[in-house]
Amino acid sequence: MTVIIDMDVSGHEEYAGHQTVVKAYDPASGLVAFIAVHDTTIGPSLGGCRFWNRYNSEDEALTDALRLSRGMTYKNALARLPLGGGKAVIMAKPDAKAPTQEELKAFGRAVDFLNGEYITAEDVGVCVEDMMVIREVTEHVSGLPSDHDEITGGDPSPYTAYGVFLGIQASVKHKLGKDSLKDVRVAVAGLGHVGMDLCRRLHEAGAKLIVSDIRSDAMDTAASQYGAKTCKPDDFMALDVDVLAPCALGGVVNDDTIETIKAPIIAGAANNQLARSEHGTILHDKGILYAPDYVINAGGVISVAMSGQSVDKTMERLEELGETLAAIFRQSERLNLPTSVVADKIAEKIVEEAALENSGDVMQEKKQAS
Ligand code: NAD
Repeated sequence: MTVIIDMDVSGHEEYAGHQTVVKAYDPASGLVAFIAVHDTTIGPSLGGCRFWNRYNSEDEALTDALRLSRGMTYKNALARLPLGGGKAVIMAKPDAKAPTQEELKAFGRAVDFLNGEYITAEDVGVCVEDMMVIREVTEHVSGLPSDHDEITGGDPSPYTAYGVFLGIQASVKHKLGKDSLKDVRVAVAGLGHVGMDLCRRLHEAGAKLIVSDIRSDAMDTAASQYGAKTCKPDDFMALDVDVLAPCALGGVVNDDTIETIKAPIIAGAANNQLARSEHGTILHDKGILYAPDYVINAGGVISVAMSGQSVDKTMERLEELGETLAAIFRQSERLNLPTSVVADKIAEKIVEEAALENSGDVMQEKKQAS
């Protein structure tokens, strides 16, 4: 049986008006998970479920869920999806590599308890097959595989990679005035599901690649298939290239790296690239163009939200990402504000407008009822 505890997190330092936060645990499977619903003004909250074995405490896991769920509200709003923001994290044991079926079902029961307020999907450590297991106990699951190539579904990573590719194109056009990526020097850190597919697209577009990963086999693949040069992970942020595309971990723009960055553009898939929001301001002041992470990496959630629709239609929606980024870059220039701040302001405005619209609808309903 999954035990579900409604949490009062209003005193937590990452609290940002979160609507619902629950802790779920199941003694039989060993599941310990947190589900955070940040905001459902625009629609039910959608966000992946993360399985992570490096949380040192329950508070670290909760902190992650609170931060990430808020980010999902902004991401979904800016991607113009009819969805709010939520996120789940499963606290894995230090030696656990993947969730067990029992853990997934126990987690699914917690998702089901929320009755559609939160829709789950894949995230780090959780794959499409895991979603199929969760689907056995709740219908509030997205990112399921499709049984036809032309229908959107399954692993969101290729869509994320395409969105990042479009975002790099938009960034290069804005900052370097180039319409093509031919001979543009792009460095990609993290050659996983997103990074490797991004390398393929960049290589096809004629970019010159430098790659880095903690897995030497992945670097060898990128070198042999895409002519990439390689570098050590520790040297990545200081590379003398046109574009840095962090596609591994968050927090890469931090107090230690920020003064070493030479690239004029940072545009990659990793979530939470800025260690602190002030780093966005420092990048802006240094004239470095930063493509806000939750905007450029929204391709995956767009594909999840468009599960079951045609791939062509999803690709069309992804094209809008480049335009959204270009608009953020122009506004950042006009207002002399960091791109990260501009993106947040636009997202907050979209949510506020939806709230006004909702209250207008309620007024209308009351009027009609009286
Ligand atoms: P992944 O786990 O498939 O790949 C991550 C890669 O980074 C691995 O190859 C790993 O070896 C490498 N890596 C780990 N530490 C490293 C380091 N210090 N330096 C260089 N490489 C390192 O993950 P993914 O699905 O490709 O996602 C990558 C990033 O993009 C994550 O931050 C994720 O949150 C974000 N993201 C992914 C998606 C998606 O659709 N998969 C969507 C949005 C955001």
